[in-house]
Amino acid sequence: MSNELNFSGGPGALPASVLQQLQQAMIALPDTGLSVLGMSHRSDWFRSVLDEAEANLRLLLDIPANYHVLFLQGGSSLQFSMLPMNVLRGTRQHADYIASGYWSAKAIPEARLEGEVRVAWDGQPHGYDRLPTEQELQLSPDAAYLHYVSNETVEGVQFTQTPGLPGVPLVADMSSDLLAGPLDVSRHAMIYAHAQKNLGPAGVTVVILRDSFANSPASPLPSLLDYRSHISSRSLYNTPPVFAIYALLLVTRWLRDDMGGLAAMAEINRQKASQLYQTLDKHAGLYHVHAHPQWRSQMNIAFSLPTPALQQQFLQGAQRQGLHGLEGHRSLGGLRASLYNAVTPQAVASLCQWLDAFASSTAL
Ligand code: PMP
Repeated sequence: MSNELNFSGGPGALPASVLQQLQQAMIALPDTGLSVLGMSHRSDWFRSVLDEAEANLRLLLDIPANYHVLFLQGGSSLQFSMLPMNVLRGTRQHADYIASGYWSAKAIPEARLEGEVRVAWDGQPHGYDRLPTEQELQLSPDAAYLHYVSNETVEGVQFTQTPGLPGVPLVADMSSDLLAGPLDVSRHAMIYAHAQKNLGPAGVTVVILRDSFANSPASPLPSLLDYRSHISSRSLYNTPPVFAIYALLLVTRWLRDDMGGLAAMAEINRQKASQLYQTLDKHAGLYHVHAHPQWRSQMNIAFSLPTPALQQQFLQGAQRQGLHGLEGHRSLGGLRASLYNAVTPQAVASLCQWLDAFASSTAL
């Protein structure tokens, strides 16, 4: 049961049925009789895993045919570098970046190693507690691309409208909200997301890339860092993380068959987040939600209590109830509840019960 009450920011909860299948696959895969950990990445079995994982992502996200789906390593942090290496390095162009939180602020210095970066908006002066309006964004029509983080995992702010200018390739880090609901892939030149939230376990990063954006880099790159190598080898340039990709396949099957697709998943996620925010707002004197209401994330809810001592009491009590992973990110402190796809409405109801019980036992 405690596995179902895991509110960790990532790696996060995975669906119970997927964990059961992985347990069996560890010893013997139903299809091959061999452990998943000993399967060759050159086997027919793994080719069919890659093909179905890609097909499921294409179906769930309605990915147009002129986009590649790549399974890479190095986490989302490597994409902070790989993107500007492939697109900016050796050119005279600049890229626009929206600095909306901890993760977008980490992407910017990596891009500056490769070329010129202009910050289109910076939320740092007010602690990244909101996102920009369209009017506040200073976008350039001649940028090589605009980079944004669709959901800031640490601060709990999430875009509800896609930013950007027509004609400027748009790149999104969707590490913490890809597969949480439907989205318009065609608005983007590239989307990337590591797996360890809604997609599967850590070890694989999905990159969805429009073919025309994946041109040969202006200056030659090591093959492993060049998107073209991964496109031409269909994610088999070197040994990929077989286990993580198999787990991702099972998660996409779960979304397709058990959850009924991303529109249905989005509705469940909306209800979970709304129940949690309502409970926090009911006790607004005790719980302070970091994000302004208009920008609140449905995936990561960052909140705090008035004193560190109260936060400690809250966390200790939560652990006694079997509620795990509620510590905030080390950069922001406070508390955070992450409501990824595999966190059930029942788990959220249990968390809300504890929030109510702690509020009624705490006299401020
Ligand atoms: N981007 C976002 C939005 C994240 O949440 C994270 C990590 N949680 C990262 C990037 C960095 O990812 P990784 O650890 O896979 O490099």
